Amino acid sequence: SLNLLNITKSYNGKLVLDSCSFSFEKSGIYVLMGPNGSGKSTLLRICALLENPDSGKVIYSESIKTIENNLNLRRRITLLLPNIGVFNTTVFKNVAYGLKVRGMNKKEIKARVEKALDFVGLLHKKEQNALTLSSGEVKRMGIARAIVLEPEVLFLDEPTASVDEENVEIIENIIIQLKQKLNSIIIIATHDKDSAKRVADFELYLKKGKIIF
Ligand code: ATP
Ligand code: MG
Repeated sequence: SLNLLNITKSYNGKLVLDSCSFSFEKSGIYVLMGPNGSGKSTLLRICALLENPDSGKVIYSESIKTIENNLNLRRRITLLLPNIGVFNTTVFKNVAYGLKVRGMNKKEIKARVEKALDFVGLLHKKEQNALTLSSGEVKRMGIARAIVLEPEVLFLDEPTASVDEENVEIIENIIIQLKQKLNSIIIIATHDKDSAKRVADFELYLKKGKIIF
């Protein structure tokens, strides 16, 4: 489980998160909605331990935090950013990058990357330069890049933003399948309410710096 305890965050004197608390107990898909600038992305970065709150705590349960070292904990958590960086190389290498920096051997990298690419329906494009992918395909490549790390907690920031209808449906299906595959906590920030309702097990709203269930 993931527990947020009185998370407060301001930027330049402007309060974004106001003593925000929430307990993510069950595995499943949590969709976090709220208007532009309400703090969704900020909250995801804080949950993913990429940024510190001004005050308050992010607590991962024992089952996730089996290793006390923060670096190792962070490796069990993956955040898919709204605009993922695309490297000027093949789709395969774009997805393999995260495993390579972790020093995994070539054979295992190949197996994992191909499995992840197959999962998002991009295996046939593995040798294509990633810069030539459509924006929907880039999003799917981002999901492959995230799941290849086999995270226990996955955060997706605007996974269907600026994606055409066909790819929205494909991505929604990938997310729903991901839930079964990972059996973990998946938290999605979006302002696409229709898409949110289609995938959500739990709907959350960020309002005035607090989470409303
Ligand atoms: P959107 O729906 O547009 O993605 P959001 O709900 O994700 O919005 P955030 O990106 O979390 O909102 O931003 C919340 C507020 O905090 C905004 O006013 C933003 O400008 C501000 N903010 C976020 N990060 C920083 C930062 N590193 N420095 C300064 N201000 C920031
Ligand atoms: Mg955002």
